[in-house]
Amino acid sequence: MPKSKNDINIAKIALKKYFGYDFFHPTQEKAIKSVLAGKDTFVLMPTGGGKSICYQIPAIILDGITIVVSPLIALMKDQVDGLNAYGIKANYLNSSLDSQEQSEIIENLLNGEIQILYVSAERLLSPDFTKILEKIKPNLFAIDEAHCISSWGHDFRPDYTRLSYLKKKFPKVPIIALTATADKVTRADILSQLELNKPKQLIDSFDRPNISLTVLPGQKRIEKIKDFLSDKMSQSGIIYCLTRKQTEKLAEKLKSFGLNAASYHAGLNSAERSRIQQSFVRDRTQIICATIAFGMGIDKSNVRWIIHYNIPKNIEGYYQEFGRAGRDNAPAQALLFYSFADVEMIKKFFLDNSQRSIQLGKLDRIKEYAEGVICRRKILLRYFDEEYKKKCNNCDICNKPFPSLDGTALTKMALITLKEISSQNKIDTMSLVNELMRRSDKVNFASWHFYLAQMKNLGLIKVNFSQNQALFITDKGEDLLEEKIKKVRLVTLNEFIKRQEKSSKSTKSYSKNKVKKDYYKNPLFDKLREVRATLAKESGIAAYMVFSDATLLEMANEKPKNKAEMINVSGVGEVKWERYGEEFVEAILSE
Ligand code: ADP
Ligand code: ZN
Repeated sequence: MPKSKNDINIAKIALKKYFGYDFFHPTQEKAIKSVLAGKDTFVLMPTGGGKSICYQIPAIILDGITIVVSPLIALMKDQVDGLNAYGIKANYLNSSLDSQEQSEIIENLLNGEIQILYVSAERLLSPDFTKILEKIKPNLFAIDEAHCISSWGHDFRPDYTRLSYLKKKFPKVPIIALTATADKVTRADILSQLELNKPKQLIDSFDRPNISLTVLPGQKRIEKIKDFLSDKMSQSGIIYCLTRKQTEKLAEKLKSFGLNAASYHAGLNSAERSRIQQSFVRDRTQIICATIAFGMGIDKSNVRWIIHYNIPKNIEGYYQEFGRAGRDNAPAQALLFYSFADVEMIKKFFLDNSQRSIQLGKLDRIKEYAEGVICRRKILLRYFDEEYKKKCNNCDICNKPFPSLDGTALTKMALITLKEISSQNKIDTMSLVNELMRRSDKVNFASWHFYLAQMKNLGLIKVNFSQNQALFITDKGEDLLEEKIKKVRLVTLNEFIKRQEKSSKSTKSYSKNKVKKDYYKNPLFDKLREVRATLAKESGIAAYMVFSDATLLEMANEKPKNKAEMINVSGVGEVKWERYGEEFVEAILSE
């Protein structure tokens, strides 16, 4: 039996001691309480939400061994290096190790010298490993990237479907399943396929509050990128392009400006690809110009910015790609270039098959996001059915709101019309505009389209992509019709065009109104980064594993000068203090 069942205080002490953090995030605390009480647990958290702590803390404080199932074999070494840097006894077993290395690890496992073991599902379920499992004392099974179990998901792994073995064989050992991407169908699939026993389900907001969101017209992209990068000295970032050729051309261009850039795409051989990836993770290459092939297998927490050189195919992909920035929760930026020509070009990539109509619908929707005139964060989260109640103040629209007018009557007219004509037939945006034009000539065709896009962005109507883009009224839309919501503000097409023209001509990547607060413009931060780079090199690990950017930023602001002050910094645990602390104190004292 676990020695400290239910004891969240012991968990908090371990959090401070090993990871140097003072508090659990609310969902983490709930997940850990549930696991410590021996319950099966399902956790849906965004990237950077802190999923790994949910099983790492129980692994540290419970007797026995926590087994982590992960599909990302290439990441296991990094994850284990990261944990070892905290002084946690972790290891991994996969096909990249030779048989000598594997038997050593198995020996350590049997001797109880390992607290956390990462394995692939395939390995876990192999006959030789299941025998080992019976000899050791698993205290918890953590299923990472749990969406891989579902053929509905985007990353299906057949081996994951055999994981019900765990509950059958070890009914008393709790299972925690974690993912950052799971719609309702996938979620249900995870719970039933793992045969979880009355699981505690914890679902976090999808928001990534530390990532600022900006969309700019595609004109003068290169100048805008130069401007954007001018205050980013050596901050890591990725520029996503549509084609292989573009990645190469852009990387050449950036190099000609003296920037440290490389290109990455599926056309390179695998040795070349892993060299570039490694060089980026180790902070030797600052900028990667890549197709979307890049990023999936990277666990680098200090990616500070993501640029989309072209509009992505859909909002799902966009959210995942820019989400690779700021996993350490320190301020990060996402910049998207939008041009009509790109939208037309992407359409040519869609094959003429049954998926085409869905793809076109989703492309339309991201175009409406790019042409959005209300808070970008709200639009994105509503797309994922989350109503965001807080103030964002971290997107280009919030920084410079559009003048708006009372659009309540217009909106109600659109919703009522939709209700009337869609009672028999499902209708799409175009048919609705036609009907609205027939009923009234006060608003022109283009303006109706623009207003309807806003109603979608406001979450009053939604598109059903798998039903020929049919529109439907959301609960929030019904609330407006029932006058539970009293007013709707709308922005005119003219206002939008005016601003679009202005920023098309500009070469700036920020609007003038924005009070630009640069968290990273701090000479001490740069100095601490250098110390970190040297220490990382000496220990043979990536810089972000020594301390995250968030931790260095806090050090640069608080200037801790001794052990007690240093331990107060979020992210400085005991082992890291011992290994690295004094070098940073020295750097601060000699400032
Ligand atoms: P995920 O796997 O959900 O993407 P991680 O587990 O990598 O997220 O955590 C993201 C970042 O947040 C890491 O830098 C991690 O150390 C940090 N973090 C996690 N939990 C906490 C916490 N309770 N307080 C402060 N930082 C935390
Ligand atoms: Zn906003």
